[in-house]
Amino acid sequence: MKQEIVDTDVFIVGAGPAGLATAIAARQKGFRVMIADYDRFPIDKTCGEGLMPDGVLALRRLGVVLGPEDAVAFRGVRFLAKEASVGAAFPQGSGFGIRRTTLHRLLVARAEQVGVSILWRTPVLSLVADGVSLDRQIVRCQWVIGADGLKSRVRQLAGLDGHRYHYRRFGVRRHFKVAPWTDHVEVYLGKDCQIFVTPISSEAICASLTSRDPQLRLEDAVSHLPDLAGRLHGAPSITAERGAITVTHSIPSVWRGRIALVGDASGSVDALTGKGLSLAFQQAVCLAEALAKNNLEFYQAAHRRIMRLPMLMSRLMLAMERPEWLRNRALHALASEPAVFSRLLAIHVGAIPPAALGLKGIFTLGWQFLTV
Ligand SMILES: Cc1cc2nc3c(=O)[nH]c(=O)nc-3n(C[C@H](O)[C@H](O)[C@H](O)COP(=O)(O)OP(=O)(O)OC[C@H]3O[C@@H](n4cnc5c(N)ncnc54)[C@H](O)[C@@H]3O)c2cc1C
Repeated sequence: MKQEIVDTDVFIVGAGPAGLATAIAARQKGFRVMIADYDRFPIDKTCGEGLMPDGVLALRRLGVVLGPEDAVAFRGVRFLAKEASVGAAFPQGSGFGIRRTTLHRLLVARAEQVGVSILWRTPVLSLVADGVSLDRQIVRCQWVIGADGLKSRVRQLAGLDGHRYHYRRFGVRRHFKVAPWTDHVEVYLGKDCQIFVTPISSEAICASLTSRDPQLRLEDAVSHLPDLAGRLHGAPSITAERGAITVTHSIPSVWRGRIALVGDASGSVDALTGKGLSLAFQQAVCLAEALAKNNLEFYQAAHRRIMRLPMLMSRLMLAMERPEWLRNRALHALASEPAVFSRLLAIHVGAIPPAALGLKGIFTLGWQFLTV
């Protein structure tokens, strides 16, 4: 069968959060944009479903404003373990708990509103000299964007694979019908696992488990966390358990020629950071700016800046996952210095620069770590 030839300015592979955000941002810069996904609308995905305040801000720049009918605002993050707990509110703004399908609907609606052309159930098979090859079409374009997730085919085809760092864990999530009991995202630290609880409506929460063990199930992990087990006791689960891998990885370059990568395809942090979506939205805004400047080196520099701290946080959090004594010591130290934890959270969501922790903060935390 002869393939039809179509023209556009920007072609995006993958209509997940990163792809759609990039599509909207590129349209806002005046480009003609096409985007294709092999899945069907609306796309669900294993996720903790917590969007940090910096992600909410980036979404707003794209014209997507979350309302109370879409999402539930949360004020901060709390870590809980058997021995200690510590929490803090964000210094400004709120995060939002939002079902992935709702987020997807909102992004698609905005993309359609600004004139993005979307193709569902359309796998992108290969890159060709001046564009991409689909099942029935050749799309000629100026730019190809790989927003095709962790196992990015575009990254591989463009020769951009070659991890600087690669660390893999496993995640599962399930929703429960129970009124949220807190206005924070709660992170329960269990033996070799963590469970995130995110409020997603006035009567439901999302519980997502991360660990190194691909066999570990939510039910087993919850049964070892009496506080959480008590909260969820009798609450019917409203979705089936769904799994995915979570990867901390970075690649030396996020572009080559007229091809650029965004979202998980371009590098990712562990789910424990709760930052994947925020990073994708921030990258999307910078990538569109780089396309408008005809300068992907600008995007590379912005990408490095956006990823630097979350990558460090991701590696730090993973380093403290094991051994247990180290994690407990760190949690005790933070619980004894809640002001330092507040500052760390503010740095994590980009509200203050890392230098704001200051030498005093580092020494105080170090002292608590050694003496508690
Ligand atoms: C357990 C877990 C919990 C998490 N919790 C959070 C959280 O609370 N907060 C947060 O911010 N982040 C969280 N994340 C991370 C977040 O889910 C990801 O960072 C985010 O989904 C990345 O979006 P993306 O668009 O880059 O990739 P994806 O969401 O993977 O989208 C990629 C899209 O590309 C499509 N595609 C792939 N190949 C092709 C092809 N050849 N042709 C056409 N289409 C293609 C796929 O169908 C898919 O729709 C979590 C992740 C996990 C695993």
